Amino acid sequence: MPQTPAAPASSDLSGRALFPHRHLLSIADLKPWEIRFLLDEAEQWARANRGHARKHDDRLAGMTQINAFFENSTRTLLSFEIAGKRLGADVVNMAAATSSVKKGETLIDTAMTLNAMSADVIVIRHASSGAVALIADKVDCPVLNAGDGWHQHPTQALLDALTIRRRKGGFEGLVVAICGDVLHSRVARSNMLCLAALGAQVRAVAPPTLMPPQVEMLGATPFTRMDEGLEGADVVMMLRLQNERMDGAFIPSAREYHRLYGLTPERLAIAKPDALVMHPGPMNRGVEISSTVADHPDRSAITEQVEMGVAIRMACLDVLTRAARGVEGWA
Ligand code: ASP
Repeated sequence: MPQTPAAPASSDLSGRALFPHRHLLSIADLKPWEIRFLLDEAEQWARANRGHARKHDDRLAGMTQINAFFENSTRTLLSFEIAGKRLGADVVNMAAATSSVKKGETLIDTAMTLNAMSADVIVIRHASSGAVALIADKVDCPVLNAGDGWHQHPTQALLDALTIRRRKGGFEGLVVAICGDVLHSRVARSNMLCLAALGAQVRAVAPPTLMPPQVEMLGATPFTRMDEGLEGADVVMMLRLQNERMDGAFIPSAREYHRLYGLTPERLAIAKPDALVMHPGPMNRGVEISSTVADHPDRSAITEQVEMGVAIRMACLDVLTRAARGVEGWA
């Protein structure tokens, strides 16, 4: 059952709109009630998406959504595109491989170009941490961060939180083990902040070479031994080895990594008997996760994560464009 959002403190509301953010750049910018509010909004879309053959709502009709992806994506790009289309926006995808970025255009010039097209909302993915915030600063419409370098992937953390809430009922006291290449993972950074803000006990489980320094600052307790990190976990979230971000050798070999940190049925047995298995994708089967675990019909929530991705992105696109649409109380 979805939780009702805690009423925002009056200090949160005084002199401001109910959702006081123009952009969605980082989970660190959101208060716990704002996260719960977005989850509740998405819950409605999750139900609507499952319930009807005709999924259009069209509240963004006449608005232009540009998806500017400077880094590869399958799930995130597709689900932002589906989300925008279900809300009736004119959705345009700009892939970096075919854009002027390849010809040496600067980020600021790209931002100015996107702005000149009078977009109403821009979704950006970029390989450099902070690049999305830089573009957000230069454009006149809301910007959603679809992943910037190692830094943040806020809609991934929100969709993961929604999946957990639907399966586990809430977050208070829930033990969530985030395992694998935590160092290079924006998914891990966003999730640690998000789940800790919602009251979960978050563990970062990684080899010493793949553990970020001061991970406690992000709300997680570090574990360098997989078995210890999994003990009593309610949720086991696996991460891909982000080879494209590795500069040097962080693990002896993929085989050795799987032996020590791969999620196999035997390892999963160390967690709680009903522990939920999650993975943001793309998965490297046989490296961080075995197929038996990934495809487990009851324990794996991996396809549900993808499903919740559409609902969360619909909620975020709706909420962030409300001011421009003049929705009461959002100016
Ligand atoms: N799809 C996620 C991301 O964009 C996770 C991954 O690539 O491993 O960060």
